Amino acid sequence: MSGKAVLVFSEEDNLAFELLALAKQLSNQLGSWTGAIILGDGEDRVVKFTEHCADKIFVVSEVDPQRNGPDVIAEAVAQVVSNMLPHIVLIAATKIGKEVAAYLAQSLRTGCASGCLDVSLRDSQVEVTRFVMGGRFLARQIFESYPAVITIPPHRFQAIQLKGNGSVENVKVTVQKRISKLEFRAVEKSGAELEDAEVVVAIGRGLKRKDDLKLVEELVKVLGAELGCTRPISGDLKWLPEDRHIGLSGKHVRPKLYIAVGVSGQIQHVVGMRDSKTVVCVNTDPNAPMHKEADYSIVGDLYKVLPALTNIIKRIKEKA
Ligand SMILES: Cc1cc2nc3c(=O)[nH]c(=O)nc-3n(C[C@H](O)[C@H](O)[C@H](O)COP(=O)(O)OP(=O)(O)OC[C@H]3O[C@@H](n4cnc5c(N)ncnc54)[C@H](O)[C@@H]3O)c2cc1C
Repeated sequence: MSGKAVLVFSEEDNLAFELLALAKQLSNQLGSWTGAIILGDGEDRVVKFTEHCADKIFVVSEVDPQRNGPDVIAEAVAQVVSNMLPHIVLIAATKIGKEVAAYLAQSLRTGCASGCLDVSLRDSQVEVTRFVMGGRFLARQIFESYPAVITIPPHRFQAIQLKGNGSVENVKVTVQKRISKLEFRAVEKSGAELEDAEVVVAIGRGLKRKDDLKLVEELVKVLGAELGCTRPISGDLKWLPEDRHIGLSGKHVRPKLYIAVGVSGQIQHVVGMRDSKTVVCVNTDPNAPMHKEADYSIVGDLYKVLPALTNIIKRIKEKA
């Protein structure tokens, strides 16, 4: 048994170090210790973990994230956690981490809170703060069952280095593969650098035909922008590659200028662009929610507005 230990897992060591900083703070309050699970070859890595606040390190060498899928990783983590029964398990919300957390909570019959922005204690009860309803609200929630399984988005906390003296335990697990690969296919990539772009022009279903993308591409060119889109444009219509879609299930962008063209502004899209500095919206419908996000609204037909906008910018550039 662990007392009220705080255990950390990520298949990426740097993310585990970030979580350990939070784990240290929580375990200090609980008067307990921090633990970290390392999968794969741990020999060279344990020192780094002890330097990043891990009091105990559990190495499971026979399971390796490079070779094994999330099913096997989750099973290994679940076995370590079942033996320790910590008070809190912090998992980095990577693709693998999200699957591991869900599996773990299910197998321990305990609660799981995903994408938590903050974790705090009320006596020993665990409280989390997280976005809910597609990012429209922030909810504070409290765990009713333990261990509390929590996922944290990458880079939410900063790793701290402390001179530590962590102990190491090699753990044997018995894991069973539950999912087999059928096929691996490369996803079409456009090379879009949306996350770092200073200007993004995003197109939505206001565009009527794929051929009309030329109109938007002209504006993108004169602005030196990156082209983004809503999910229906890439996912349903397949007019642009998947890596151009912005929103809840796509990219998160934060450009200086975001021009939304024929985009209605549903919350699933808006969560991916609301950190943009200046937002321009072009939409025929004056009641489209995107106008509420915009600093500058143009209620008009994109087929008239886009060529006019492109020409004006071209002229300004020629004069400059
Ligand atoms: C679980 C889940 C996750 C999702 N994730 C995402 C996500 O990550 N990103 C995302 O974008 N969506 C996502 N969606 C879909 C989302 O809910 C919306 O359906 C989508 O964003 C709408 O796309 P749109 O604005 O292109 O289309 P529409 O909602 O159809 O809007 C088209 C807009 O174009 C305007 N328009 C029409 N003609 C013109 C014209 N000639 N000139 C100017 N304007 C015109 C219309 O007034 C309208 O406002 C998700 C949905 C679910 C359920």
